Parts: sequence; structure tokens; C-alpha cells
Amino acid sequence: MIPVIEVEHVNKHYGEFHALKDISLTVSKGEVVVVIGPSGSGKSTLCRTINRLETITDGEIRIDGNVLPKEGKGLAKLRADVGMVFQSFNLFAHKTILENVMIGPIQVKKIPKAEAAEDARRLLDRVGVGHQADKYPAQLSGGQQQRVAIARALAMKPKALLFDEPTSALDPEMINEVLDVMIELAKEGMTMVVVTHEMGFARKAADRVVFMADGEIVEESTPDEFFTNPQTSRAQDFLSKLI
Ligand code: ADP
Ligand code: MG
Repeated sequence: MIPVIEVEHVNKHYGEFHALKDISLTVSKGEVVVVIGPSGSGKSTLCRTINRLETITDGEIRIDGNVLPKEGKGLAKLRADVGMVFQSFNLFAHKTILENVMIGPIQVKKIPKAEAAEDARRLLDRVGVGHQADKYPAQLSGGQQQRVAIARALAMKPKALLFDEPTSALDPEMINEVLDVMIELAKEGMTMVVVTHEMGFARKAADRVVFMADGEIVEESTPDEFFTNPQTSRAQDFLSKLI
């Protein structure tokens, strides 16, 4: 087992508020970890600290063995190793779908334009929106835009992908078209951390479920164990409200 993401004894404070409490979590190559928990439990904060969109108060985060620096050149490079897909797709409105996917590799990785375009077309095909390459984000459905966001993350050739509630902003009929792409990626061996309440996805794709509450990891198990036999009252409470 090769560790890709290593979070060790990480604490995060927002002022007085203790948002992450001594979090330790290792995600190995090819592993899919689903993070689940009530609103406000620190799931987004955890994703954001892994990607250094937030600084941490103490502890250490390593990506592929490299300690994430606080700032500087190394940060952009290491950040590119972990792709992030958010609830809102955040595509550039005035760029085409193709340009949205090409821009990271060109600007951050200095990939020649022709090569970036070829790569972007291949990725757009892979997530099923190749025929939309020359359109603008607003011309696509939410499900299609989120698939473009996944292609954009993949274009950076990340070592791992983080998803923060990728289907929460979508109309119900579009949820599966995004989850199906994620399930494919999981099968292909992508290392993934996925914050989601989609139990079907967790059961199909997750190797491990991590349950967070109040800034702590309360419980960790296989999806089957977690959904059928949660060990803590906090997890039992949470699951009873989900159904
Ligand atoms: P989740 O994603 O599990 O819903 P978050 O990680 O977004 O939870 O938030 C965890 C807690 O941290 C919440 O109580 C939230 O209000 C607080 N929080 C998140 N971001 C900030 C911030 N920038 N400043 C202050 N408090 C924050
Ligand atoms: Mg959140």
C-alpha cells in the first residue's frame, strides 16, 4: 500500500473555533474514501486543508510523500497533484468548455497549447461531453458542467482527486450521470476522497467510509459495516436522519 494523502494530527482553528480536531487519515494509491457526516462537521475544511486552500494550525499533510509547504512556488505544483471538484462547478463563464479544461495545464504546467487541446478533447470525450467542447458553460446542464469540472481536474494529471459534495447542487436526474463518471474513475484506480451523502455511490465505489462529527473522525469502516452496523450513537443518529 503506497500512501498518497497523509494527514497527521491536523488541527484547524478559525479564530477560537476548533474546526478540525487531531485528524489523522491516510489514503493509499487507488483507494476511494467516502467522508460523510452532519453539516458543519468539518468535511469541507478537511478537503480544503488537504489542498492548502486553508492553512492548518498544526499537524502535517503529505502528498505522495512530500510535505505541503505553506506557500511559494512548491505550493502551486503540489496543489496540482490533488485535483478538487466542488459542489459548484466554478467553470470560467467566458471561456469555452475546451478552454476551461486546457487552461490549467497551459498556465500551471506549461504544456504546449496543441498538446493541452488534444488532451482536453480526450478527457471531455471520456466524461461524455466531447460534443460540447466549443460551447460555453451556461449552454450545458448542471450534470454536464460538473463532468467538465471533473475533466478539468483530470487534465492536471493529479495523483488524487477530492470531491466535495459534487452532486449536491444538481437536479436529481443529473446526479447519476456524474456519479457514473466517478465510479468509472474509481474502477480505473484513481485515488479519491469523496464527501457525499450518496449511499449508493459509497456502497458501489468506496473502500472505506469515514464518519466525521464536530471536527473529529468518529468512526471508520467499510461501507457495508458502516451502513448496516454503525458503531457509535452519533453515526446511528446521523444515518437515521438520512433515510
Ligand atoms: P461541513 O463541510 O462538514 O459542512 P465545514 O468544514 O464547512 O463543514 O465547516 C466546519 C465548521 O467550521 C462549521 O461550523 C463552519 O461554520 C466553520 N467554518 C468553516 N469555514 C469557516 C471560516 N472561513 N471561518 C469561520 N468558520 C468557518
Ligand atoms: Mg461542506
